Amino acid sequence: MARRRQLYEGKAKILFEGPEPGTLVQYFKDDATAGNGAKSGVITGKGVLNNRISEHLMLRLQEIGIPTHFIRRINMREQLVKEVEIIPLEVVIRNVAAGSISKRFNIPEGQRLPRPIVEFYYKNDELGDPLVSEDHIIAFGWACPHDLEDITGMAMRVNDFLCGLFSGIGIQLVDFKLEFGRCWEGEDMRIVLADEISPDNCRLWDLRTNEKLDKDRFRRDLGNVKEAYQEVARRMGILPENGAGGDMKGPETVQ
Ligand code: UDP
Repeated sequence: MARRRQLYEGKAKILFEGPEPGTLVQYFKDDATAGNGAKSGVITGKGVLNNRISEHLMLRLQEIGIPTHFIRRINMREQLVKEVEIIPLEVVIRNVAAGSISKRFNIPEGQRLPRPIVEFYYKNDELGDPLVSEDHIIAFGWACPHDLEDITGMAMRVNDFLCGLFSGIGIQLVDFKLEFGRCWEGEDMRIVLADEISPDNCRLWDLRTNEKLDKDRFRRDLGNVKEAYQEVARRMGILPENGAGGDMKGPETVQ
């Protein structure tokens, strides 16, 4: 594929200009960072797995009516997406305490929360992505109350759907992070799910053993990071054969 103009390089992805106006190519790298760049490394094959996993989840979410930026996967590492104006918020949905919420409130990791909790963080590396309230978001103009209602409603629907999808393959969805963007169609604007959904931004624990199948294996030096991502893809029935474009197997149900 002819090299396209690079628009942005993030920690785990690169965005290139797309083939048509209003489209972008999202390239998945093998690079991994944690602690806002304090730790970095390469997980060989991660980009290929995340491209596949995110494609699968975005397609399933589109089927239940969640608007997303995803158009189609182009190859092992690239997908075509709609160009959106990213809302500078990391929207975290939690079902079970882990990570920062466990530290903040001294809740043991693994304790189920009384109900799903939605949190917003302001996307700003220099500030270390601070936790913000809906009032901050509205006062500083990152989103209006109507947008926020849309975002929260979509986040809860995504959570309900993904909890079911993962529990069907023996995985507990502990928490995850979403990003949303504004998509313009003429005068009309709608908010769509953007970025990616993969073990890089979800906590996924084996339902039976609580084994971590996500980026915490990298963050906490637990080893077998790629194997954990592969296991998620395998249970989803989308493990790329020979590292990439093999036939799709059906999903596997784990009792
Ligand atoms: N997360 C993310 N990007 C971030 C911060 C968090 O994708 O910059 C995800 C993370 O993978 C986890 C969830 O959001 O699934 C909640 O993360 P938490 O606030 O507990 O932060 P952490 O403990 O990872 O620093």
